[in-house]
Amino acid sequence: MSLSTVLQQNLNEILNAIRQAQERSPNAAERVRLVAVTKYAHPDWVRALSDLHPVFGENRPQQLAERAELLPGQEWHMIGRLQRNKARAAVKHASLIHSIDSLRLLQAISNASESEGKAASVLLQLNLSREEAKSGFSPEEIRSLWSELTASAANLKICGLMTMAAATEDPEDARPTFRELREIRDELNLRDETTAAGIDLSELSMGMSGDFIPAVEEGATLVRVGSRLFAGLPTP
Ligand SMILES: *Cc1c(COP(=O)(O)O)cnc(C)c1O
Repeated sequence: MSLSTVLQQNLNEILNAIRQAQERSPNAAERVRLVAVTKYAHPDWVRALSDLHPVFGENRPQQLAERAELLPGQEWHMIGRLQRNKARAAVKHASLIHSIDSLRLLQAISNASESEGKAASVLLQLNLSREEAKSGFSPEEIRSLWSELTASAANLKICGLMTMAAATEDPEDARPTFRELREIRDELNLRDETTAAGIDLSELSMGMSGDFIPAVEEGATLVRVGSRLFAGLPTP
């Protein structure tokens, strides 16, 4: 089978699974978008996939910048940990930055937005699995920092929340994490500062190859899928 046949088949399976999860769950969002995570994908695969799917995600600013310049017709998302000194590259190349994990980074993105003359769209990342190695605000932190976060959003758009569930064998284990993200989103959307700042947390970025089905059932609007999309391809 050719490269693009395998990619099309994997893509169809994932899009069908998303659609079925949407149909069976009352908590699912009406519109769910697939972010194809290309961080480990060979450049030939990335090029072939760009004929089939419009939205790509990268987790490192350097590779994001390089690939966004090669394929400017794609919509590129920054999904990985971001240092403040890379804020400008992320603002320049990404249509959405999923991984804002501190107030200082939000402020750096705001400054970069001003100097790039482009209002960045961002998601705030929550660490709900309480794993040391994962970045993100804890629920307590995001609640206590909410006033400051919304006040720092003048040059940018806070569009929603993102999380990564703990890696497990059974995708069902991730469901409580996804439900918690939706509940925190609903709670923050009701706070006075949110409406005062004109913020609507409509996006929930959650679910990866191993757990995107419960994520969609719990309300994901963006799923970030990498390895499953490139399964069965020979290493070039
Ligand atoms: C790599 C990565 C993904 C995709 O992971 P897969 O398990 O390969 O689907 C999703 N989100 C983030 C933040 C990642 O770094």
